[in-house]
Amino acid sequence: MQVADTVKKEPDGSLNRVVIGRIASTAFIVASALFLVSDLLFPGAYSKASTLVVGGLTLVAGFASWWIPWEHLPRSTVLWMVPFALFAVDLGYVYAVRNGFNYSVTFVIIFVLVGLTQPRWTSLQLAPLLVVAYVLPLLITSDHMSTSGLGSAIYVVPVCLMLGEATAWGMSRLAEASSEIAEGEESIRQLFDEAPIGISKMGVDGRILEVNRAFGEIVGSAPEDLVGLDILDLTHPDDVAETTSLIASLLAGEIDRFQFEKRYVHADGHLVWVSVNGTVVRDSNDRPLFLIGQIEDIAERRTLRDELALHAVTDPLTGLPNRSLFMEHLGSALPRAEAAGRHVALMFLDLDRFKLVNDGIGHDAGDRLLRRVGQRLGGALRSGDVLARFGGDEFTVLCEVAGEDEVMDVVQRLRQALSTPVAEPDFEQFVSLSIGVALSTSESMAPAVLLRCADVAMYQAKGLGPGRYVIYEDRDDGDAGRNLRTSNELHRAILGSQLVLHYQPFVNVDDLQVVGTEALVRWQHPERGLLPPEEFVELAEECGLMVQLGAWVLHEACRQGAQWIVGRAAAGVGGRIPAMSVNISPQQLSEPGFADVVAGVLDDTGFPAERLWLEITEGALLRDPAAAIAILQALRALDVHLSIDDFGTGYSSLSYLKRLPVEALKIDSSFVEQLEHGADDRAIVEAIVALGRTLGLGIVAEGIERPDQAIELAGLGCNIAQGFLYARPADPAAIGAYLPQSIADWESGSRFAPLADLR
Ligand code: C2E
Ligand code: MG
Ligand code: MG
Repeated sequence: MQVADTVKKEPDGSLNRVVIGRIASTAFIVASALFLVSDLLFPGAYSKASTLVVGGLTLVAGFASWWIPWEHLPRSTVLWMVPFALFAVDLGYVYAVRNGFNYSVTFVIIFVLVGLTQPRWTSLQLAPLLVVAYVLPLLITSDHMSTSGLGSAIYVVPVCLMLGEATAWGMSRLAEASSEIAEGEESIRQLFDEAPIGISKMGVDGRILEVNRAFGEIVGSAPEDLVGLDILDLTHPDDVAETTSLIASLLAGEIDRFQFEKRYVHADGHLVWVSVNGTVVRDSNDRPLFLIGQIEDIAERRTLRDELALHAVTDPLTGLPNRSLFMEHLGSALPRAEAAGRHVALMFLDLDRFKLVNDGIGHDAGDRLLRRVGQRLGGALRSGDVLARFGGDEFTVLCEVAGEDEVMDVVQRLRQALSTPVAEPDFEQFVSLSIGVALSTSESMAPAVLLRCADVAMYQAKGLGPGRYVIYEDRDDGDAGRNLRTSNELHRAILGSQLVLHYQPFVNVDDLQVVGTEALVRWQHPERGLLPPEEFVELAEECGLMVQLGAWVLHEACRQGAQWIVGRAAAGVGGRIPAMSVNISPQQLSEPGFADVVAGVLDDTGFPAERLWLEITEGALLRDPAAAIAILQALRALDVHLSIDDFGTGYSSLSYLKRLPVEALKIDSSFVEQLEHGADDRAIVEAIVALGRTLGLGIVAEGIERPDQAIELAGLGCNIAQGFLYARPADPAAIGAYLPQSIADWESGSRFAPLADLR
C-alpha cells in the first residue's frame, strides 16, 4: 500500500514526478511523430529539412527525457520543465506548425500538468512567463494569424492560470481527504491490532479472514497462521453444535448478536474458556458480509467461579460435601430410591466426647483428627453413598438400601473404620461414633423430616453411651405430617408473638417470702388456645427450633424481671430482688456461644446477673459432659446461678455432680407426689437432700400441692418450695405490677399459712 502511494502521488497529493515525467515524454514522442508523419506526407509551408530537423530534435528530446531519473530529482526540477516546454512550443510555432488552436491548447495542457504536479499558487507564479511565452512568438512572426493570436491571449492566459490553479486546488483537497481516510484506517487498524480482547473477522462460511494479536495469543497461534481456518476447527467438539446454531441464527437475522461461553482448543492442546460476542455486518441490501467475533479469555473468572461454587458446597476442612450439598443429594435420592423400590438411609454421626479430645490435643490437631476421620469414613462407604460434614464433629451419610440389614452393614463398616486409633506424629486417639439412622418410608417424606428423625435417633444413641447407634422408629405418615405442620406453625409462633410466659413463684417455706419466680413458656395458639410446654417443647427440640425459642424465653423473662424491679422501686418495696429462674434446654446449652447469648440478654435488659437462675436438666449433661461443664463454668463466670431441674429422674453420675458449678437441686415433683405413699420415695428425697447438703447445694422442692407435703419436706431440710399450694403459674399481669414480698400478700391469695403458724 505504501509502495503504491509513492508511485501515484506526492505527499501533497499532486501526481508523482515519475508519472508526470513519463506522461510528458510520451506526449513529446507522440506529438513529434505526428508532426513528422503529417508534414512529410502532406508537405506544407516548410521545407522538408526544417521539418526533419525540428521533428527529429523533438523526437530525440522525447526519447531522451524518458530516461531522466525523475524520482531522484527534487520536485522543483519538474518545474524547470515548464520553461523548456514553453520554449519548445514557441520554437514549434515559429519554425513549424502555425496552428492557433494547437498552439493555445498546448499552453492549456502545460498548465493543467503544472496544476497536477505542483503545489497550489505555482501556476500564478508562472503567470509572467506564460504571458511572455504566449505573446513573444506571435510578435516575432507578425503575420495575420499572429494578430488574432495576440487577442486570444486575453482568454488563453487566464484560462491556463485558472485551470492550473483549479487542478492544484482539487489535488490538494484530494490529498487532504485521502490522508484523513488513511488516518482513520490507521487508527482502526491500531485499535484492532492492539485491542486487549481477541477480535476475529470471518466470512459467512465461518472461515477466518483476519484476527488480531490478542486472538492469536488466546489460541496460541500467530494471527496470520489462523487466516483461512474454519472457526469450528478451533472450537472444542462439545461446543461445535451450539456455535453452529448461533452463527446460523445470526446469519438468518433471527438474532442481532449472541453472547455465550465456549471452549477453544489451544495450539498446545489445552482448553481455553472464552466468552464470545458475535455480530454480523451486512451490506445495504441486508445481505451478510462477514461475521465479527469478540473473544474474551475467561479462564481465570471461571476458575474463580468454579472455586466459589465448590466452596459453597464443600466443607473447607475435610473437603467433604457440606450441609447444603448433602441436602441436595438427599432431595434427589428420595424419589430415585422410591422408584427403585428401595429406601434412603440417612445416618447422623457424632464423634463421642470430641470437645474433650479437642481441648486435650489442641484445635489444630483436632482439625487434623476430623480430617482423618472424614477420610476413614469415606473409605468405608460404598460407591454412590454420600458422606458429608454437617458441622463441628457431626457427619452425615446418605445411602440407598434395601432394608435394615443393609443399614446394619453400613453402620458396621463405619464403626470398623474407626476401630483402630487415629495416629498422627503428635497424638494417637481412639474415636467412637454415636450414630442415629432414619429410613425413608415414602417418597413424600420431606428431607428435613428424615434428617430430624436421624438427629433424634442420634440423640437417643448418645443417651445410651458412647459408640452406640439407634435406628429411628417409624411413626406413621400422618403423625409425621402433623408434626411437620405443627413445626411450621411453631416456627411462625416464635417469629410472631404467639409465645407467652407465665410465672410461678417459689417461696421460703418458713415465712412464705417470695424468693423468686420461674418463667414457664406457653403457646397462645390461634386455634387450639393456650398450649402447655408438653405440647411443643419436645417438638421444638426435634426440629431445631429450641435454641431460638429458648433465647426468646430468656430475653422475655429478663425483660419482665427488670420491669418488676423498676415497679418495686417505684412502689417503695424493700427487700431482696426476687430471683428469675429460666429453664434451659440441652440444645441451648450445647450451642457454642450460649454464654455470650446470656451475657447479651443481661446487657440488653439490664436484669442483674446475680438474680438470674438457669435450670438445666440432667439430660443436658449426658451428651458431652466435658463440653457442658465448660459452658456452665462460662455461665458462672457471668455471675449467673445454676440449678439442676427435675433432679433424680436422669442418670446423673454423682462423680461429676461435684464437678459441676451448680448451686441448687430441684427435687422432681414425682418424688414429692409419692412422698406419703412409699418409704422408697421418702428415702430418695432424704438422700437427695443429704447429697445437696454435703455438696453445699440449695434444695428446692417442686410440685407441692398439699400442706402435708410442705411440712414433710421442711422436716427433711428442704426450705424452698414451689407448687400449686403456694401459687399456680400465672401471667405477669396476675402477678402484679411488682412482686409482693410475701406470698401471703399476693392478690390471688394463698391457701396456705406460713409453716411457722402450722407447726
Ligand atoms: P419444670 O421446669 O419442672 O416446671 C415445673 C412444671 O411443674 C410446670 O409445668 C409447672 O406448671 C408445674 N407445676 C408447678 N407446681 C405444680 C404443682 O403443684 N403440681 C403439679 N402437678 N404441677 C406443678 P409446665 O409449665 O407445664 O412446664 C412443664 C415443663 O416444661 C417444665 O418443667 C420445663 O421442663 C418445661 N418448660 C417450660 N417452659 C420452658 C422453657 O421456657 N424452656 C424449656 N427448655 N423448658 C420449659
Ligand atoms: Mg423448671
Ligand atoms: Mg421440674
